[in-house]
Amino acid sequence: MLPKLLSRWPLVRQIQTGGDGTGPEVMTERTHTLGPRTNGAQVARSVCPYCGVGCGQLIFHKDNKLVSIEGDPESPISRGRLCPKGADSFELLTHPHRELKVKYRRPFSTDWEDLDLEVAMDMIADRVWKSREKSFVETQDGQSLMQTKAIGHLGGATLDNEENYLIKKLFTGGLGMVCVSNQARI
Ligand code: SF4
Repeated sequence: MLPKLLSRWPLVRQIQTGGDGTGPEVMTERTHTLGPRTNGAQVARSVCPYCGVGCGQLIFHKDNKLVSIEGDPESPISRGRLCPKGADSFELLTHPHRELKVKYRRPFSTDWEDLDLEVAMDMIADRVWKSREKSFVETQDGQSLMQTKAIGHLGGATLDNEENYLIKKLFTGGLGMVCVSNQARI
């Protein structure tokens, strides 16, 4: 009984095995049974959504749940590395404070209210159209202008070429907006 009890102490196990105190001899039983949380998970390839660098990510998921997000060693962009933002993108999805509803604060109100996405989209479309109608300049100094500077659009980091093409077509070609920019570089 006593030797068994004693052998639970890492120091005793180290003496018994002649180890240097950095190996399995000093591990607890629990540590021996630990494994990576990605064990048994499926993996999908993706791209970090935070900025235009576009680092490769491996998305580990198990039973329809996200398990971990890690750098993709196969990515020619990032070769397995992620910056602190990208390394923390697991929480972008899983953090309990993540907003899942559209928030709206009415003029002069001090409170936020939840809106359905459909309602919010209709409100945005109405405002865009009204602003355009009020501000659209067809001619200036006898020259055709056909533009509005009253509405702007700022795109996100991971928009690709095709999405940017459509944005430019819709907002500049369709609505006459000239203030169109984004952070997309991939
Ligand atoms: S990991 Fe960092 S550098 Fe890479 S895309 Fe994400 S935010 Fe940008």
